[in-house]
Amino acid sequence: MELKTIQKNDFVALLSEMAKDGETEVIAPVRKGDIVRFRPIQSGEEADFSAWNTKLSVKEAFFPQNECLYTYATESEGLDVSQPEPDTRRRVLVGVRPCDARSLAILDNVFASGDTKDNYYLDKRERTTVVGMACLEPLQTCFCNSVGGSPFGEEGVDVLLCDMGKHYTAKAITEKGEKLIADWEAASPEDADAVEKAQAEAEGRLEPDVVPDGVKEILDTCFEDPFWDSVHERCLGCATCTYLCPTCHCFDLVEEVTGDKGRRMRVWDTCMFPLFTRHASGANPRPSGKERMRQRVMHKFRYFVENFGVAACVGCGRCVISCPVNLDIREVLNDVAKLKK
Ligand code: SF4
Ligand code: SF4
Repeated sequence: MELKTIQKNDFVALLSEMAKDGETEVIAPVRKGDIVRFRPIQSGEEADFSAWNTKLSVKEAFFPQNECLYTYATESEGLDVSQPEPDTRRRVLVGVRPCDARSLAILDNVFASGDTKDNYYLDKRERTTVVGMACLEPLQTCFCNSVGGSPFGEEGVDVLLCDMGKHYTAKAITEKGEKLIADWEAASPEDADAVEKAQAEAEGRLEPDVVPDGVKEILDTCFEDPFWDSVHERCLGCATCTYLCPTCHCFDLVEEVTGDKGRRMRVWDTCMFPLFTRHASGANPRPSGKERMRQRVMHKFRYFVENFGVAACVGCGRCVISCPVNLDIREVLNDVAKLKK
């Protein structure tokens, strides 16, 4: 597709214009103190594209940490159940790094394919145009290239922007993306060369093969290995890794009841908490950190591969950066590789 371009000032103005048209929700990385998160914006000036990755991943724009599925009220005639008011606005999500965009393609396997589609997630996906932002200088904790991605990856992206200093180049990846940038100016051949060069440089900055080949096959054979007895030992069970992870998607359903009214909420849950698997009887098939850590690794790199042909990790490095005890998934996988028989 033809490479387009837009001046940064014009892009900011465009975001403001869209945010004010009443028909579009614009969501962008917004800084509050040290934390950058995806938030709805009213003006392009609010967007901050300087962070290489947001603290929480883009999943919260599709699968929020707390979401009301329906409300109910007890009435003399029975129960009155209502769905939340549907939001029909189109959504433009800007500044999504390629690893996060790819996580959406991975989450689609869970929420938007097969026989049981999740309408809450699917509705937001269908209404959203994802504007990606290529990574020019991946961090030391990034390893998208080792799990099938790239700092210029296009999976899950509708338009991919590349920062050229005073302007962006824009490549439409899908029809949705093509529509969004239809009026933008064509980029120059120099721009096209510069993007190619920037991509080669960004890819060259990443270490190759951070995740060893054949990890899935090794995991197939090491469920009972004594390795799992110690790998979890310093884990605090805080679940930071799973809450920040763009591909982790476990949730719980809880009731919030006040008097004769209530609402059913979907809230993020995590396999790193003991309560996640505790039965009503009190029995727990994953009673200690050992079983929970094994589950986290097995789910991402074995079961998800079995079910969907892809690992549930996009190499964003959030779990590496934010784990309070520096438990590094890259090291765990390399230690797993040493178990090869
Ligand atoms: S962030 Fe670290 S300490 Fe917390 S649950 Fe994950 S691995 Fe354990
Ligand atoms: S496991 Fe860690 S590196 Fe992989 S996607 Fe999740 S947070 Fe990112």
